[in-house]
Amino acid sequence: PVRGCLSIVVLGASGDLAKKMTFPALFNLYQQVPAYTVQFGWLFIQGFLHSDEVRIFGYARTRNLDDEFRYRLHRFLDHDKVVSPAQTEDVSEFLHLVKYISGSYDAEEDFRSLDKEINEHKSSKVQQDGSSRRLFYLALPPSVYPSAYKMIKLFCMNKSKYGGWTRIVIEKPFGKGFGLLEKLSNQIGELLHEKQLYRIDNYLGKELVQNLMVLRFANRFFLPLWNRDNFDNIQIVFQEDFGTEGRAGYFDEFGVIRDIIQNHLLQVLCQVAMEKPVSVDPEHIRDTEVRVLQSVCPIQSEEVVLGQYEGYCEDPTVPDDSNTPTFATIILRTHYEKWDRKALNSRKSEIRIQFKDVPGDIFESKKHGRNELAIRLQPSEAIYMKLTIGVKQPGLEMDTTQSELDLSYKQCYQGITIPEAYECLILDTYDSGHQQHFVRRDELTEAWKFFTPLLPRIENGEIKPILYKRGTTGLLEADDLVQKAGYVQTQDYVWIEQ
Ligand code: NAP
Repeated sequence: PVRGCLSIVVLGASGDLAKKMTFPALFNLYQQVPAYTVQFGWLFIQGFLHSDEVRIFGYARTRNLDDEFRYRLHRFLDHDKVVSPAQTEDVSEFLHLVKYISGSYDAEEDFRSLDKEINEHKSSKVQQDGSSRRLFYLALPPSVYPSAYKMIKLFCMNKSKYGGWTRIVIEKPFGKGFGLLEKLSNQIGELLHEKQLYRIDNYLGKELVQNLMVLRFANRFFLPLWNRDNFDNIQIVFQEDFGTEGRAGYFDEFGVIRDIIQNHLLQVLCQVAMEKPVSVDPEHIRDTEVRVLQSVCPIQSEEVVLGQYEGYCEDPTVPDDSNTPTFATIILRTHYEKWDRKALNSRKSEIRIQFKDVPGDIFESKKHGRNELAIRLQPSEAIYMKLTIGVKQPGLEMDTTQSELDLSYKQCYQGITIPEAYECLILDTYDSGHQQHFVRRDELTEAWKFFTPLLPRIENGEIKPILYKRGTTGLLEADDLVQKAGYVQTQDYVWIEQ
């Protein structure tokens, strides 16, 4: 179909995020995908960015020749992302769509020039219907957002009489606390409508997070089970096996609660704990998510364990007496109709739902642990149901054994590549335009509201992190806390990945 041209402008194109995430995601969306048809055999079908309608502009202050920028991108994509000769050709074709423009983030004349470049792209295309779609991706430090918004609003909005849109993608961190967030949101609100803003939280683009709603609301056997009558506690865990390498300056300002829990893990909590939305309309879904956040009770300081790994303060960009936590276990409780307990523990990237004990336990299964539904977000995506002694050992004896119902993605969907979160999210911004997988202003407000009392107490040293050794599984104090909250550690259970 004839469509208007699409201009994607990556502001901060010289930076780390643009190189590591934004451009590789755009390339993967552009890439031709091999597909098999009975009639023609293997074919390469066009990806999700079409060369006859898209142009990508990299914009930053660094004086950089257009060719040099493409050369740097080529080296990065080629070495790290591309494997086959067919794809190498794709990289060259993709880079033909990219143009680098140098300019500052507050100079009128630079944004006028950018607007001119976008308009030239529009008029150079013959097949189009005249409308124009403009996507601005702010891969910039938040301090630069206000001037960038203003310049875009004044000089670079779509003005085509044939229609189209202007959308802006912004990256976390979204504020540093409740007060600052409101100030930032008001500033943005004066310039742009919420419908034009796409706040990226890459967890919302992860395959298994996107799958949660389907799993919960499209399966008859989960619907009646998914409530406090059956679930004892839920852990949402995130763990990394490296320190703050290269990011210590940024990290020390934010800490693990702002960097991981307040955004990524709360978004996962919303997906796990929300009621069934009225429909799959993105706004109905986001309304339901907000209700989960509104129902979380204030955090109790005795239900928080913080840690900091030994050697963290040795980084030259971190103050010697930094109180910033690199580890946190926090119990969140909600008075939401269906939930009364949950444990949120930042150790690994998975959701672990632990069921209550079996009533009238004639097999003494309680001794061995409880049923658990585990949803592994990364790595090795999988959904599995842990049956601690829930099956009969095959044979003549009436022995029971542990097993699992296992949906390991690698095994079930062989040959299928799971897209990166950034690919799914960027595709939504320019294709469907749906904002279901982006964070709405009121969601952010609620999320900051209940972390705000805790954060100043950490910053003024009232709550101190406990030191732990790198490479260990965490803190015993945290294990004690989740056990007090109801979690029962299963004995001798090993999940063998298929
Ligand atoms: P970055 O490399 O520090 O900055 C991106 C670009 O912005 C720089 O190349 C620089 O370009 C410009 N810039 C930097 N500081 C500036 C300043 N004070 N004033 C004006 N321009 C400045 O940042 P990043 O790591 O790419 O991250 C970009 C955004 O994504 C941030 O909001 C960050 O929090 C978020 N984020 C990053 C990651 C990641 O993995 N890196 C992950 C999640 C979210 P020029 O000087 O050439 O203009």
